[in-house]
Amino acid sequence: MTHTKETIKQQVQENNVEFILLEFTDMLGDTKNVELPIEELDMVLNNEAMFDSSSISGFSAIQESDMYLVPDLDTFLVLPSQIEEDRSVRFICDIYKPDGTPFEGDPRYILKRAMQEAEDMGYTVNVGPEPEFFLFKLNEDGYPISKMNDRGGYFDSSPKDKGDKVRRDIVRTLKKYGFEMEASHHEVAMGQHEINFRFDNMLKTADNIQTFKNVVKDIATNHDYHATFMPKPIAGENGSGMHCHLSLFKDGDSVFYDEDAEDGVSKTMKHFIAGILHHASAIAAITNPNVNSYKRLVPGYEAPVSVAWSHSNRSCMMRVPTTRGKGTRFEVRNPDPTANPYLTLAVLIQAGLEGIRNELDAGKAESRNLYEVEDDSVPTLPTNLKEAINALKKDEVLLNALGDHTSEQYICAKEEEWTEYSLIVSKWEIEKYMNK
Ligand code: GLN
Ligand code: MG
Ligand code: MG
Ligand code: MG
Repeated sequence: MTHTKETIKQQVQENNVEFILLEFTDMLGDTKNVELPIEELDMVLNNEAMFDSSSISGFSAIQESDMYLVPDLDTFLVLPSQIEEDRSVRFICDIYKPDGTPFEGDPRYILKRAMQEAEDMGYTVNVGPEPEFFLFKLNEDGYPISKMNDRGGYFDSSPKDKGDKVRRDIVRTLKKYGFEMEASHHEVAMGQHEINFRFDNMLKTADNIQTFKNVVKDIATNHDYHATFMPKPIAGENGSGMHCHLSLFKDGDSVFYDEDAEDGVSKTMKHFIAGILHHASAIAAITNPNVNSYKRLVPGYEAPVSVAWSHSNRSCMMRVPTTRGKGTRFEVRNPDPTANPYLTLAVLIQAGLEGIRNELDAGKAESRNLYEVEDDSVPTLPTNLKEAINALKKDEVLLNALGDHTSEQYICAKEEEWTEYSLIVSKWEIEKYMNK
């Protein structure tokens, strides 16, 4: 919905609103917010809401810590769950510097820059994400314990599925947030669930992913569960991915569909796919952003390990579902839901556009089950965070996509995370080596 300052003020009055929530996302993908009393509405709408950015990960500018929260009026919402109790409204914000220019480390800005590059080439992009999550039980102090909410499996129904009521409540709430909801179901692993919402442009989708994750966590808590988007919470079970379906349009027509091609897939789409495959290792540093992410990317759990594309093979990083016409799209399967969605979509699109510009070759669709291919004829995704970060450091296209500020801060933060992890002596090591 498009809003103006006037329509916003009108809704604020009609709903007798008390509080304004200003939201944004830090470099690591966490939503941050600050709450202001409604008396500050004019100040907020005049883009004068200032904050100290030095304590936000990835934001700490060397010279300048005062930054401004500039509300995106299109994201205005009277928060549905709180109409009676708190009567709050929210805005998702862009980050601006005191000189009135956008802050180059703002993930939303990095995505907008990528969208502009697509637009300069005449393209608009739609994305449909599939975030998966687990529900865990809580102890009496309200902390999650390592017990899943049920012992159900793929598409199981109640009573094996004990997440049906929570999912329904999540769907209901998201509808009030203006989401167009699609299917929801129990996923493969015990305690694992998936809820789908409709594709949209990249910015809207990235905003939606953040709202989705927060609503899922909130509603789960209301049902005395803990929702986690951690990629591999249980060893030996499927992990949680966030597959992303991308389609590209020019003047309203799909540029991915070619009715004359044998498989209905255009050359442009194959170049785009090739661009993503070409930069896959560096992309993983963003789409699979933590130590645990790489414990999901192993053979046997429907998560990809191979840098290849296919028509229906789920062991590949990319897959082209059978739909043709406007719905012609590919699915990138390696991202997980802990990835920063703004940075994820920015690097995917920048790599894809690079593939189109350079007419890169995606090779033939892979039809083998790559979990079982033992030779090294097909490259694999990085096996740990360190490998991915090393690839990112050398990838000019990705470094440009992120910009200097975020590239430096991200690599530094992730190298620290890796060092921290490397210094841990795990239970597994003790058991394995104590008797040496
Ligand atoms: N959970 C799987 C993954 O990690 C995907 C399973 C599915 O959606 N079919 O990507
Ligand atoms: Mg799905
Ligand atoms: Mg799924
Ligand atoms: Mg999928």
